[in-house]
Amino acid sequence: MAHFDLVVHNVSWQDEVYDILVKDGRIVELAQAGSSTQASRTLDGEGLVVLPSLIDAHVHLREPGQEYKEDIASGLTAAAHGGFGQVMAMANTSPVNDNASVTRFMLDKGAQAFPYGPWVRPVGALTMGLLGQELAPAGELAQAGCVAISNDGLPVTSTELFRRGMEYAADFGLKVIDHCEDPWLGHGGVMNEGAISSRLGLKGIPTVSETIQVARDILLAAYLDLPVHLAHISCRESVELIAQAKEKGVPVTAETCPHYLLWDETWVVEYNTSVRVNPPLRTRDDVLALRQAVRTGVIDILVTDHAPHAAHEKNVTFAAAPNGISGLDTALALTCELVRAGELDFMDIARLWAWNTADIFSLPTCKMGTGDPADFILVDPDLAWIATADALKSKGKNTPCLGQELSGRVMTHVLGGRVILSHQDFS
Ligand SMILES: [Zn+2]
Repeated sequence: MAHFDLVVHNVSWQDEVYDILVKDGRIVELAQAGSSTQASRTLDGEGLVVLPSLIDAHVHLREPGQEYKEDIASGLTAAAHGGFGQVMAMANTSPVNDNASVTRFMLDKGAQAFPYGPWVRPVGALTMGLLGQELAPAGELAQAGCVAISNDGLPVTSTELFRRGMEYAADFGLKVIDHCEDPWLGHGGVMNEGAISSRLGLKGIPTVSETIQVARDILLAAYLDLPVHLAHISCRESVELIAQAKEKGVPVTAETCPHYLLWDETWVVEYNTSVRVNPPLRTRDDVLALRQAVRTGVIDILVTDHAPHAAHEKNVTFAAAPNGISGLDTALALTCELVRAGELDFMDIARLWAWNTADIFSLPTCKMGTGDPADFILVDPDLAWIATADALKSKGKNTPCLGQELSGRVMTHVLGGRVILSHQDFS
């Protein structure tokens, strides 16, 4: 009888129940449940759903430079618990990740903390220091291990420079991720511009500050026939522009975050700084447009835009608070909420949180097929837990979920056939 390294019994996959057979870091087979096998380790998957280990294409890990908010080890701990086997770390660290030594530093820190994953996938800066003046060395960054290029944090205002950046990154097979924001239209804004911002006396950020850059990027991608990936899309008009562009065959891809699918601008009325985020939470109509866009594929992937901050930084007035929501710990539970609401199904989770992401950024993923890397999570989609400060593994507790009951938890996380985290008993 064949001997396996790991067998997970009776786990649900695409509404059927299987045994997952793992050997040498790879899936041997999804076998009929109840198959008699020998294995070094076995797990009971009864009542659990298997999903590919998730990939987050947009996180801020804060190291180097702002380790009091988060460091690579704490960020990866949150990733492991949250179900993420790979996280793409943005370049707005201090120093900025605009050269190979910073990229290597991040990779080394990740490997030291988690030698078997989760993996940091650094994103190199588009411009030196993110200052929008001169291009960073994309070739050097690619060679050091960067998987994409982005100026996230400080949008590039020079369209000429952005064009050269798209061309330069493409020479090395990297995609540019753009944070779409016109820095003048939204200048000084802290929430969505509209009736509620007027009533609260807070300066608004109009949707057009996003859409004008979405349109610019789409026109450039079409003109150059080069890909561009649009970060954290927040509104209906952007969705419409992306849908039109895709119909015409423009090589554009896009992401949004769980918070834009669940919460709207009314969450700001209590001046809760944990919902201060950029782009801001928009209207209910935008939420509905985004939900449809992720279902239909107009929006390709989900990301957290994980942006941890220290408590004292968020414990100020709404207008003075920094932007960002800590997302790695809660993303899967929030996505399970959308499944319970009938908005998404588990195959959508696999597509939006892993397969499409792997496709766009040329990363490994598990499709549960024979020979695939055994990178998967066992999820109890309905298990309730309280998002206490202790339960959140990120240093950043800045989420409106803090103290709330959430449902949906990673019970076991397997990477390369190795159990990197489990709340289950083995036999
Ligand atoms: Zn951004």
